[in-house]
Amino acid sequence: MQDKRQIMSDELLERFIKEYIECQTAPEVLFTWHGGEALMLPISFYKKAVALQQQYAGGRHIENAIQTNGTLLTDEWCEFLVQNNFLVGISIDGPQEFHDEYRKSRTRKPSFRNVIQGINLLNKHGVEWNAMAVVNDFNADYPLEFYRFFKEIECRYLQFTPIVERIFHHEDGRTLASPAEGAEAEIADFSITPEQWGTFLCTIFDEWVRNDVGKVFVQLFDATLANWMGVQPGICTLAETCGHAGVMEFNGDVYSCDHFVFPEYKLGNIYTNSLVEMMYSERQLTFGANKKKALPTTCQQCDVLFACHGECPKNRFCRTPNGEPGLNYLCAGYKKFFHHVAPYMDFMKQELQNERPPANVMQWIANNRL
Ligand code: SF4
Ligand code: SF4
Repeated sequence: MQDKRQIMSDELLERFIKEYIECQTAPEVLFTWHGGEALMLPISFYKKAVALQQQYAGGRHIENAIQTNGTLLTDEWCEFLVQNNFLVGISIDGPQEFHDEYRKSRTRKPSFRNVIQGINLLNKHGVEWNAMAVVNDFNADYPLEFYRFFKEIECRYLQFTPIVERIFHHEDGRTLASPAEGAEAEIADFSITPEQWGTFLCTIFDEWVRNDVGKVFVQLFDATLANWMGVQPGICTLAETCGHAGVMEFNGDVYSCDHFVFPEYKLGNIYTNSLVEMMYSERQLTFGANKKKALPTTCQQCDVLFACHGECPKNRFCRTPNGEPGLNYLCAGYKKFFHHVAPYMDFMKQELQNERPPANVMQWIANNRL
């Protein structure tokens, strides 16, 4: 919602909240606040936002999620967050040596200790939080240390995202490659490799499925089980289509998705077009449908397409063995993971279909010495 110094005007905030609620078709409306650092904005900004949400709710249930590195949390912040039922996503990439490898404060100092202080404050006030970790070239090689750390700090909800970035030197000084940039963009060295990703997921899954089902919630595993069941996975990357993750910047510019904040994916500006117009525009509908439509033949014929759906289009910059463009860079990792988890997913699906808890998988594994 903001960048480092810029704050959304009151007028823009009101317009955004009103139109965002109007845009939704479901009775629940989720606002997700993120930016350079969402807590750089004063609490008064969020108090205003919550008051406006109530004013325009029109009987709908409003929820808020905020993504932060947690270093600016105070007692006052935590009281506000708990009173208003905010779900807090904390950016933390594992134990100190992993986290501090890439996450520095604005003064380039390691930030791990401050993040843990923030988490302690959240726990003290009973604020609901989950960990949002990125998996990079470094921490990917230590999956068990990574996973066990989160259990040690009693994190029950864990999301992790593979980092895949490409470098392309644009004339205007931007260096990140947009998905439109082809083979000439090079992979940034902090990116994970497909092989690392596959091994990382399988190793953590093996520990989770034997010990922690129903106790620790790993978003990617839950989403995989949802796809096995044929229901919405809850994360866009494993969904069949895109299009519901539009993002608005502090100045009112609206883009197709948080991962597509590039000039060529700008849908307009809220001062000149309504959010409904932009989010239901031909362009945005095409963007959403293309996730499925643009799949290369290799994906269309893949035995785990129902679980993978070609993952995020941002990562589809490789060619298939036949030379067809549009294959996901992480394909080999996902394929390894989905094949590896298949027997366990089949079992958990069967349990759910029989109205039994999927956590029975742990006993099944023990009984069968798997
Ligand atoms: S482009 Fe990627 S991040 Fe954006 S909605 Fe689609 S899957 Fe999600
Ligand atoms: S595993 Fe690979 S081939 Fe299969 S759907 Fe995913 S990206 Fe496509």
